[in-house]
Amino acid sequence: MAKLSNEELKNILEDRIKKLENSTLKEDKFINEESVKILARHLSLGNEIPVLAQRFFQIAPKTKLVWLHLCECTGCSESLLRSELPSFDELIFDFFSLEYHETLMAANGTKAEELLEHVLEEDFILAVEGGVAAIDTFFLTIGAQGESGYEILEKLAAKAKAIFAVGTCSSYGGIQAAYPNPSKTCGISEVLSQKVVNIPGCPPSDVNIITTLSFFALFGVLPELDEQNRPVWAYGKCLHDMCERKAKFESGIFAEHFDDEATKNGACLFKIGCKGPYTYNNCPKVKFNAKTSWPVAAGHG
Ligand code: SF4
Ligand code: SF4
Repeated sequence: MAKLSNEELKNILEDRIKKLENSTLKEDKFINEESVKILARHLSLGNEIPVLAQRFFQIAPKTKLVWLHLCECTGCSESLLRSELPSFDELIFDFFSLEYHETLMAANGTKAEELLEHVLEEDFILAVEGGVAAIDTFFLTIGAQGESGYEILEKLAAKAKAIFAVGTCSSYGGIQAAYPNPSKTCGISEVLSQKVVNIPGCPPSDVNIITTLSFFALFGVLPELDEQNRPVWAYGKCLHDMCERKAKFESGIFAEHFDDEATKNGACLFKIGCKGPYTYNNCPKVKFNAKTSWPVAAGHG
């Protein structure tokens, strides 16, 4: 998706609002103004957009979200749960309707499977956490019917309005795809014909997940993507250039061991494996756990 100007985004929102104001679908929800402003700030949207975005979220039917777990550790969901503004509660009660999430939903067994079948008849967006074992599919079977993760993914992807690979596992295969990769796991875009937006990171920040999903909910189109189908607003800049240890890198002050005094005193972690100079991600800016910290600040590169 090419980059849309603020004027184009404003026009899309005005048009969507106008249609809803005269529609029987119109709702009247409370939406936290601060949360909308924060989403708009992350996306560098123009001054006129937050007011329109808030109105849209107030009156629009919530976007249905299906969150699928494949070959993964659930760390991406953990990251999402630690969101501050919008909070996770706001996310699933105000901005989206979380229809299916195996870790968080109350339903299980056949009831959960019924939910999924029901969702297939409606409009929804799909977030996938985890890589897919698409060749030897028995490496991941889910639920009472013993369907493979690959079968469920294909079924949902065929109907989804947009597909988001949340985390490095679903984007590129992740930890289970490491050599010798006995389960032959890969990223979901390798086996799907549909467009997949990658939101990599192990895990990605809550901000990158929520804001990317919200962009689609708001404008009905995908944000600008780079050559790896990552949202440019989040993955467009080199992490190294935003790092608080960069001055030490420039001065040649490097940590030699993970637990040495230099690490604690802010030395650069390049010699102990930091891949910051080749990594494009906004984590020094948005951080994790409600902006508490990020890996390089904690000293493990
Ligand atoms: S990307 Fe990392 S945190 Fe997310 S599921 Fe995979 S291993 Fe876990
Ligand atoms: S710690 Fe890593 S990201 Fe930070 S300045 Fe050093 S090499 Fe760059």
